[in-house]
Amino acid sequence: MKRTPVEQSALDHVWVHAMQYADLEQEDGLKVLVRGEGSTLYDARGRAFLDGLAGLCIVNVGHGRAEIAEAMAAQARQLAYVSSFNHVALPTVQLAEKLATLTPPGLDRVFFCSGGSEAVETALKMARQYHALNGEPQRQKFISRQESYHGATYGAMSVSGRGRPFLNRNFGPLLQGTHQGPQPFCFRCPLHLTYPDCGVACADAVEDIIRYEGPETIAAIIAEPISFSAGIAVPPAEYWPKLRALCDRYGILLIADEVITGFGRTGRWFGLEHFAVTPDMITLAKGFSSGYAPLGACVVKRELAEAFVGHSDLTFRHGYSYGGHAVSAAAGLKNIEVLEREDLAGNAGRMGARLGQGLANLARHPSVGDVRGIGLMWAVELVVDQHTRRKVTMDQAQVLDRHLMQLGLLTRCWDILYFAPPLCITPEEVDQMLAITDVALGRFEDDLGLG
Ligand code: PLP
Repeated sequence: MKRTPVEQSALDHVWVHAMQYADLEQEDGLKVLVRGEGSTLYDARGRAFLDGLAGLCIVNVGHGRAEIAEAMAAQARQLAYVSSFNHVALPTVQLAEKLATLTPPGLDRVFFCSGGSEAVETALKMARQYHALNGEPQRQKFISRQESYHGATYGAMSVSGRGRPFLNRNFGPLLQGTHQGPQPFCFRCPLHLTYPDCGVACADAVEDIIRYEGPETIAAIIAEPISFSAGIAVPPAEYWPKLRALCDRYGILLIADEVITGFGRTGRWFGLEHFAVTPDMITLAKGFSSGYAPLGACVVKRELAEAFVGHSDLTFRHGYSYGGHAVSAAAGLKNIEVLEREDLAGNAGRMGARLGQGLANLARHPSVGDVRGIGLMWAVELVVDQHTRRKVTMDQAQVLDRHLMQLGLLTRCWDILYFAPPLCITPEEVDQMLAITDVALGRFEDDLGLG
């Protein structure tokens, strides 16, 4: 299909984030999207696609919510901006108060920013300064996990586990003192040869790092409750309580990066609720405003926040011009209202069960190695051989991606096929996604000569 002028203009002038230009240049590789409604997106050619990824796990309430647009417009007319230094806008206060009722008891001080990377950057700097104020300035190191993703800014990038050789080669040196433990990833457990009797060896491995580095040098552990970037492996029940216990034993702060798992994505308000663990800090973005406006936050325990109060030397010298932006706050407030009114976390649980069951039924396809997930975040791990579990290559995955797109489903298909649709998805739409996936897998396997 010939490229349209607007698609050509996009290729010529828009630096599309983190995509290979060669992929975008492929016929139909870059879509210009013009409208969205619920779980459906429309492109400039008038084609409709199911949004199997809710943008990028962002549009939790779905596209085209007029009431959020109206709340934002009303706020922009009333007062669009106040400086985040010394002042605060009314909806920002209301949003912080509301958020404090949703986060675990004790976590009620909100540092606002515009997205996930800024939230993580904030948490890392806050952790270091907190320890410095407590007379432990040597606590500077961070422990995260392999294959994690925490953002694109230098600190957030440095604690990310995914693609480290590439990051080191191109952007190094990364922040010193950043270490990664293994993911709790049972399908491809990196530890099963050493510890055949699991016992959550992945958490024990974190303790090994702490002891090797010196507990008194560790500022924080940062981890996603369920890591999307590492392939949506839901940790064993004991994993998170063990991380919490390690932090308590060694005086380390626990940062839960809920940028993806927050705001109903997993079937609960926050991902850590599944494990009954309370962190010291939570980073939030994405579903916080469902993408209607840039919005992020680092929510911290009250006693931690209080360490920064009382004298100018204690001040957290870190801020963003757009932190707590009035229009973003209005979007966030209305977004939470919709999530609550429509019980979208509950719907994520119900529709997630339907989606998970349907995907499990697709395991009869020879290219399906594993199906795993929770709420409305699911992964289908693609293999060329179910016995050896050898993964498909990225190039092979592109073939499946193309079939899915041609059948009307947009998602992310690397060696893992991801599903994370808007939380307002209907049973009929879930079934439609499954039917498309079934047909696309069949075509893909024919192309690869599998089966
Ligand atoms: N943390 C996690 C767990 C993420 O998945 C992401 C982005 O995907 C980020 C942080 C960074 O968020 P942002 O892209 O809004 O900067």
